[in-house]
Amino acid sequence: MAELINGKKISEGILESIKKQCSDIVKKGLSRPKLVSVTLRGDRDTFLYARAQGKTAEVVGIDFALIEMDRETTTEELIKKITSLNEDPGVTGIFLQHPLPKEYDYDKIIDAVRPEKDVEGVHPYNLGKIFRRDAALLPCTPGAVMKILKEYKIDLFGKDVVIIGHSPIVGKPLSVMMLNETATTSVCHIGTSEKGDIKSYSSKADILIVAVGKPGMVKGDWVKEGVTVIDVGINNIDGKITGDVDFDTVSQKAALISPVPGGVGPVTVAILLRNIIRAYGIQNGEIKR
Ligand code: NAD
Repeated sequence: MAELINGKKISEGILESIKKQCSDIVKKGLSRPKLVSVTLRGDRDTFLYARAQGKTAEVVGIDFALIEMDRETTTEELIKKITSLNEDPGVTGIFLQHPLPKEYDYDKIIDAVRPEKDVEGVHPYNLGKIFRRDAALLPCTPGAVMKILKEYKIDLFGKDVVIIGHSPIVGKPLSVMMLNETATTSVCHIGTSEKGDIKSYSSKADILIVAVGKPGMVKGDWVKEGVTVIDVGINNIDGKITGDVDFDTVSQKAALISPVPGGVGPVTVAILLRNIIRAYGIQNGEIKR
């Protein structure tokens, strides 16, 4: 039976350090860092997520504001809002809640966020910096996966890392981070599945990371004995949150596995808040952008 990754504990360690840094900022008489979350009114899941984000931010001493835009808001109006937040010196970080309905031009809106306020780490500038290995603001979920592997002292050099899922916010940036660690990195996706090849990749993995959005997709016979498995998936099935990995069968073979909930999720929120502190440092000239 696999050892369970304790995402909550890792997250608490990061949050403790952020709390200390916020308290040092206040002691210097400076204004607190502030996160502004922009969302469309009426989407219950994103509203609940934004509210939870805000609560955690406030616990560590980061100010939080939620801006709910009308459903009729256009891409241009969202960009206008982002531009005003860019220009507001009291705003440290901007988080655009997603997914946005498909009539919005998500890329165009993200391009409008100033890179030093892009605390989600998804602006092309910050994504590009990953290639040079000196990104200050990492995309939150890939950053969380790397933090978890570091905390559990998983050596990546020369290891077979297989990532299932190639989205721009998880799989793609994570693959570059893995290459930066000299892991032998394979990225699988819907094309791999449809060609019928996915098990030939997953069964070779020393470290398997799954970010697909299909509950229980990865079964015990997909993996080899002793694998490390990181389940990024979050699927809501009748109010119960489950991952993309069939925990019961995969945990019989894995040496280390992240549960859902309680694995990647809490660390992702902590990395977002760590990005706010970094963004604050960049804006005050203490950290290189
Ligand atoms: P996405 O929909 O943007 O991308 C899905 C990826 O899965 C694509 O690469 C697609 O090709 C691949 N895919 C789809 N069906 C497949 C199949 N049958 N076989 C192999 N690959 C397949 O998703 P995303 O935004 O990257 O999110 C993926 C999952 O991770 C979702 O469950 C999401 O909720 C979760 N997520 C969790 C966190 C977190 O903090 N834990 C953060 C972001 C996303």
